Amino acid sequence: FPRVAERVRRIKPSPSTFAAERANALRREGRSIVSLVVGEPDFDTPAHIRQAASRAMEVGATRYTALAGTFELRQAIVAKLERENGLVYVPDEIIVTNGAKSAIYSALAATLEPGDEVIIPAPYWVSYPDMVLACDGLPVPVACPENQGFKLTSAGLDAAITKRTRWLILNSPSNPTGATYSAAEYRALAEVLARHPSVLVMTDDIYEHIRFEGGTAPHLLSAAPELRDRTLAINGVSKTYAMTGWRIGWVAGPRDLVRALDTFLSQSAGNSCSISQAAAAAALTQDQGFVAESVAIYRERRDATAAGINAIPGLSCRMPEGAFYLFVNCGGLIGRATPDGRRLETDGDVVLYLLDSVGVAVVAGSAYGLSPYFRLSIATSHEILADGVARIARAVADLA
Ligand code: PLP
Repeated sequence: FPRVAERVRRIKPSPSTFAAERANALRREGRSIVSLVVGEPDFDTPAHIRQAASRAMEVGATRYTALAGTFELRQAIVAKLERENGLVYVPDEIIVTNGAKSAIYSALAATLEPGDEVIIPAPYWVSYPDMVLACDGLPVPVACPENQGFKLTSAGLDAAITKRTRWLILNSPSNPTGATYSAAEYRALAEVLARHPSVLVMTDDIYEHIRFEGGTAPHLLSAAPELRDRTLAINGVSKTYAMTGWRIGWVAGPRDLVRALDTFLSQSAGNSCSISQAAAAAALTQDQGFVAESVAIYRERRDATAAGINAIPGLSCRMPEGAFYLFVNCGGLIGRATPDGRRLETDGDVVLYLLDSVGVAVVAGSAYGLSPYFRLSIATSHEILADGVARIARAVADLA
């Protein structure tokens, strides 16, 4: 009989990790590869944050912390929520986790009964559906096409809610599209939610600062404060402060749900790394200059790369309002033939063709629940992006 549980057999490894590994394998074979796959800042963690971690080690902050996180970090999160989002919480309503990823998984594990439905606007971050499946729930993707700005509408939400709906997951700015909800769009969703009081909401705010119109992205709870008692606001330091390896995320929410997470985590992951917690507290309370500087660089890359892509016949992309990806429409390439006579039928075929013919690695839209697209990460240098766009243009020009 199988040694691996059904729970694990029904999920798949992250497609972006798979694409990154494939690109690395080709590189080891000596191929020249431009990888536009990764979903992490290419900057180093700012020096003052690294120094706070060294200091923490020197003064002995090397032991278990409170499960929910150090009081210092939870206070820093409370202050951040008030300062940046206008949201009022107390430290008891915060729990620190091993990255936002573990926050989302733990929240699902602590609340889903078998068969409970989770509404996931598509395109979505690849991990949501598999996390739901791993927790015995049923992911319910709702297509949010490009002509809706890749966003969930009140009608789309209304049609997706059933008696089994437990969660709605919102991610703004979104991975992979960068789409960002306005306060008015949130209000429209909140009006639907008002008729369904048992539906809980998770807001994945991880890209809130990577935003090209300036300022933090609007928050669901500032637009619809009445949802506070059924919303978990999830965030972390990974993207904002180039701290993906430090593994610090958090949840802010009503006490009963936060307590359930506390219980679940106390018997699974335990507290998150004490040294990383000290670094995250420094990130949240000290100089914020890095955030604006890095966003300015992402903006230049977005502008140049989107212009390059939009100049290629058959490809087009919307200007993302935030995050660090372009979600490129490759519908114009479907049906065309490669130089060796293969017809491109899916975005997966397009992605394989780009890798095989010109060594550009991107991730197919199918991984994010919407085709025919591919996701291209701009979290890499101007030179690499320009090389990538030139290679894509060459590959497209070779199609019949
Ligand atoms: N949420 C989204 C939408 C992401 O894209 C990612 C990382 O790729 C995460 C959460 C995970 O963040 P963390 O590093 O805090 O686990």
